[in-house]
Amino acid sequence: DAHKETLEFKAEVSQVLDLVIRSLYSNKEIFLRELISNASDAAEKLRFESLTDEALLEDDPELRVRVSVDKDAGTITVSDNGIGLSRQEVVETIGSIASSGTRRYLEAMSEGATTDNALIGQFGVGFYSAYIVADKVTLTSRRAGLTAEHGVRWESDGRGSFTLETVEKSGRGTDVTLHLKEDEKEFLDAWRVRSVISKFSDHIAMPIEMVKEDYGSEDDEKKDKDAEPELEQVNRGTALWMRNKSELSDDDYKEFYKHISHDFDEPLAWAHNRVEGNNEYTTLLFLPKRAPWDMWDREQKHGVKLYVRRVFIMDEADKLMPHWLRFVKGIVDSDDLPLNVSREILQHNRKIDTIRGANTKRILSLLETMAKDEPEKYQTFWNEFGRVLKEGPAEDFANRERIGGLLRFASTHNDNDDQTVSLDDYIERMKEGQKDIYYITADSPAAARHSPHLEVFRKKGVEVLLLSDRVDEWLVNNLHEYKEKHLQSVTKGKLDLGELADKEEKEKAEKAEKEHKDLLKRLKDSLGDRVEAVRVSTRLVDSPACIVVGEHDMSANLARVLKAVGQ
Ligand code: ADP
Ligand code: MG
Repeated sequence: DAHKETLEFKAEVSQVLDLVIRSLYSNKEIFLRELISNASDAAEKLRFESLTDEALLEDDPELRVRVSVDKDAGTITVSDNGIGLSRQEVVETIGSIASSGTRRYLEAMSEGATTDNALIGQFGVGFYSAYIVADKVTLTSRRAGLTAEHGVRWESDGRGSFTLETVEKSGRGTDVTLHLKEDEKEFLDAWRVRSVISKFSDHIAMPIEMVKEDYGSEDDEKKDKDAEPELEQVNRGTALWMRNKSELSDDDYKEFYKHISHDFDEPLAWAHNRVEGNNEYTTLLFLPKRAPWDMWDREQKHGVKLYVRRVFIMDEADKLMPHWLRFVKGIVDSDDLPLNVSREILQHNRKIDTIRGANTKRILSLLETMAKDEPEKYQTFWNEFGRVLKEGPAEDFANRERIGGLLRFASTHNDNDDQTVSLDDYIERMKEGQKDIYYITADSPAAARHSPHLEVFRKKGVEVLLLSDRVDEWLVNNLHEYKEKHLQSVTKGKLDLGELADKEEKEKAEKAEKEHKDLLKRLKDSLGDRVEAVRVSTRLVDSPACIVVGEHDMSANLARVLKAVGQ
């Protein structure tokens, strides 16, 4: 039905809009990047769908994005001949701002987090950046596969409501028209627009065209309104990852990262590789600077896109990267997979397994090099993503030693809560005769640092790693040794300090054990089944008593964690 209706935005929308406008204003031309990025995503989606349904391309198979200005109307339009949106899809995607994230974002903001460009990008408010420069936006779209009379027009001034009506649209795809604010008329200048596009969008793998007449010329008057506009392609229009590393600048990589990751911040590092042989593919992988807000959500999305011979196949291809590296963003472009590859096929595909294995090794090398050559940068990485990396040894047995080398912990050596000590640092400082790597797990950094179990270690000057992240129990249950040194909890079993324990003390304890036999028995009898044994200990220096669990029992901290999650 063609009826026109007015709908209200979801409550959060106007709040988010205000934020977007305020925090991105200083960088206002990014609206073009966002709209062009959406247009090219839409064209890539259509290219993919047309692999199985060629009719979707109608008589317009050359996918492209077009940017035009209308000085009289005061508008700039970004249009694509991509997948388009149905009326229903417009309501779902444009009317509501990428869903669940919004609320979380607002919460984060109200908790006093800085108004921070990088965060905004993560929440998929790209489309709304149009309101930085426009006081009204009109989106006209027709979904590929629907006929011309099933077009839809969405329009809003961004203040609480939008209108929606069914219109006729001859060409497939989406036109987004921005009615520019009075002080933003600079974007009617085609040269200005062109320079922004070449700055932001050179790497977009399809033509971005501008209308030649828009540049304005002396024979404006003679312009024949009915003639086909003369177009000029303003970007290079080839896939960036296919170009030679030597011709790419850091800025090229940074812009490409922003395009594929929807992150407004720059990447921390990247690795670009081409593999030849009987499984040929190209990878371009990025480490973000910051953890995404939803890294701990169960459905946290993977960030690697799959292409086959330059054709976009899918987002969030979770088989291309192990779960413990889910924060890596980038693309894999395979020359050898079939174009009709599905998620099901990816599940059991030897080529994909090989690519995942190689991707894992590339990221490990990238991190190892960073840790060695740029330790401060590595520390930034660790502070953001360390807790995810700690899932690695459990999930990836084969690489656990290499992951072990990348771990960082707080330790009694520094006696603070910063996770900066590597296992190699620890081993270098081990005392003569010390066989094991000692650690303690607790439910907070303070509890770890102040545990009575540490007394004897402090006294003897033996370093103990202080573990208090939730994932640490999981880590030590899966990383039993590193460089042939056993990882030993200081709260477990009979404390065997090996050659570190001094003989004298041992004998004293044995003597005390005999002397106080009756006391120990009385304590055991009165505690009954609540303890397994009561012993004289050499663990303590100042505290009168401590509880120890058996070598193979669940640690007290793990028991607490499980209880907290309701097990
Ligand atoms: P994101 O691109 O991160 O998903 P945006 O706010 O930029 O967030 O866009 C929101 C959604 O609106 C997109 O995911 C897409 O579904 C839809 N959309 C935006 N622009 C277009 C377009 N030109 N063609 C088709 N769909 C679009
Ligand atoms: Mg977008």
